[in-house]
Amino acid sequence: MATPIGNSADITLRALALLQRADLVACEDSRVTGPFLKRYGIQASLLPYHEHNAAKVRPQLLQRLRDGAVVALVSDAGTPLINDPGYKLVRDCIAQGIHVTALPGPSAVLTALSLSGLPSDRFLYAGFPPPKAGARAEWLAELKAVRASLVLLESPQRLADSLAAMADILGGAREAAVARELTKKFEEVRRGSLAELAAFYAGHGPPKGEVTLVIGPPPDQPEATAGDLDAALTAAMRQVPLRQAVDEVSAALGLPRKAVYARALDLRDRGQ
Ligand code: SAM
Repeated sequence: MATPIGNSADITLRALALLQRADLVACEDSRVTGPFLKRYGIQASLLPYHEHNAAKVRPQLLQRLRDGAVVALVSDAGTPLINDPGYKLVRDCIAQGIHVTALPGPSAVLTALSLSGLPSDRFLYAGFPPPKAGARAEWLAELKAVRASLVLLESPQRLADSLAAMADILGGAREAAVARELTKKFEEVRRGSLAELAAFYAGHGPPKGEVTLVIGPPPDQPEATAGDLDAALTAAMRQVPLRQAVDEVSAALGLPRKAVYARALDLRDRGQ
């Protein structure tokens, strides 16, 4: 069942009723869920179920369920299964014929998408980018051609670097929104192109609180051809220094900066 992502009033009547009658609440961290339940006067038996103990605890949970216990699965915040091992429990319940239902409610993913102002008719939730630059670049390259808005989670400390990589690989001109502290007092959505957002966070440092990122779909334009690239680079390099030309052209054509840079060096060496 979903629980609040910041504003403790975002809990449904149905969720409170189920938490009252559950025999067991499987939670990520009892230090988070305990105080939350206390706030609503609910005394429940809590069992931590998270990434690091999931394989060990899941058989116990399945046994309790087979014995007829009512088990509520919650995460620290938002909708379980969105970035936690909950799906493995649901999958095993289905395989074992154990009744499962879902109590919907808050999720940072849909809340950010709703507030982003970006197309919401088609979106891909992609979770957290890999923290290491090389793996992140490959991961972004796979997402580049997806014709949908992208919803990503990111830590505030890595946000500026991630945005720079996104501007480089997905194209600096792609529209995006950084949604911070959703449903909380200091809720804020900063909208702009990936290049603008990357520059903003590089200059201002990590934002306070939690962030979710939404990136609009790639522009509806045919892939730039090698001829388009050469023409754009040649024109830009006549006006501005090579690096600036590369930045401008990769953003305008939505091409990876690395590839545009290599081509620019080629053209320069051939004296074009
Ligand atoms: N299950 C959760 C959901 O459905 O929203 C997502 C859990 S994930 C482990 C935690 C990440 O969600 C945070 O690092 C952040 O990226 C995002 N997040 C959670 N609460 C948020 C909030 N109030 N505002 C913005 N992002 C949030």
